Amino acid sequence: MTTTRTIGLRLDDAEHATILPELRRAAAASGRDLTVDPDADPTEIDYLVYNIDSGVTEFSAFPKLRAIFNTWAGVEAVVGRITVPDGVPFCRMVESGMTDGMSEYFVAHTMRYLIDIDRAQAQSAGGLWQKWTPRLARQTPVGILGLGQLGAETGRKLAELGFPVYGWSRSLKSLDGIFCHADEAGLSEVLEKAQILILILPLTDDTREIMNAERLAQLPKGACLINAGRGPLIDDTALLDALASGHLKHATLDVFREEPLPGSHPFWRHPGITITPHIAAETRMDTAADAILVQICRDLDNAALQHIVDPVRGY
Ligand code: NAP
Repeated sequence: MTTTRTIGLRLDDAEHATILPELRRAAAASGRDLTVDPDADPTEIDYLVYNIDSGVTEFSAFPKLRAIFNTWAGVEAVVGRITVPDGVPFCRMVESGMTDGMSEYFVAHTMRYLIDIDRAQAQSAGGLWQKWTPRLARQTPVGILGLGQLGAETGRKLAELGFPVYGWSRSLKSLDGIFCHADEAGLSEVLEKAQILILILPLTDDTREIMNAERLAQLPKGACLINAGRGPLIDDTALLDALASGHLKHATLDVFREEPLPGSHPFWRHPGITITPHIAAETRMDTAADAILVQICRDLDNAALQHIVDPVRGY
């Protein structure tokens, strides 16, 4: 006789409403003995689909918990604020919709910089017919800080388009088409080459303001930057100074210290900054539900869960 396992939810209202039918669909499709029950008593819940906007920060009411699945990829708002029971894996979200969304965001803005679409728009607005020769991908080194789920896929897509891609991570990687680096010296090598710099690191004590004035100065003159990691990866004042001096040509920012970005912030209406409102990569609820079910099936098959957050590392 098999035991029915219960999937419970502790989410904000919006995510609750959108993921619930997808979880039910994915659980039914898995063919396993699972029930998705948003009203389940905590004592009955085996797997919890979770985000911190639910207000839940400790799980002592859930004695049967086998795993918690965070619906967000970034966990800096969670690490240190929640108490996870010993032995219960806390997994961050890795799902194909988010990975595709993020890598496509970076490819789009990289291509925009490559052929200078901003110049075309400015010339269109001014009624100016003036030719230029766009750079080629193979002449334009791109740096990527963070070679995890999102950075590695971005690097793969950019390398396929012909860009020389230089990546940097905590542990040294070996990835097809990417010149991989680690450590402080490796970071300098990446920054010195990157005509376009992509930031897709998690926010931790080690990465906070990693792009300070000194590191921004290591970029080639006229470099462009795209940040979809977290706002505090960059020293905002240093960024504004680098744009004002002309050392940095342009920045595309999806993430900010305070969100929504306050109306009075100097990033708004800055000619050297493009703002997107934290849309680089949403969790797509259909593929997120599929990814959660893959994890649950692994657990049912006694395989190790993936993407477990290490609270000491901070991601
Ligand atoms: P991930 O798979 O955990 O990858 C993180 C990468 O950063 C890894 O390569 C890791 O190195 C590297 N790293 C971490 N700390 C480092 C350090 N101190 N020095 C050098 N490298 C370091 O994470 P992911 O799924 O790619 O997501 C990355 C971040 O994107 C998330 O944390 C979140 O903040 C952000 N995000 C933003 C959006 C958005 O819409 N804007 C959406 C989703 C995610 P190792 O490989 O050696 O561990």
